[in-house]
Amino acid sequence: MSVDSETIFCYHCRTHHPKAEMRLLVTKTGKRWRCLRSIEATKQGKAAREAYGREMTETNKAEARSKARLLNAHQ
Ligand SMILES: [Zn+2]
Repeated sequence: MSVDSETIFCYHCRTHHPKAEMRLLVTKTGKRWRCLRSIEATKQGKAAREAYGREMTETNKAEARSKARLLNAHQ
């Protein structure tokens, strides 16, 4: 059995991945093996949430502006 076919249990996916796709992370509770895919997905999830937050702020601003226009129209 070659080293290339070695697999490690991914605590994120609860399955085994090839060792080449794994990274050892040190957490508060100890060392955890996670696959690069799950690490990237977490990063993207964070970025997506931040983008969503910015979008919501813009939507709220736009809504406030349209409400202000309505109020002005009634005056
Ligand atoms: Zn995984």
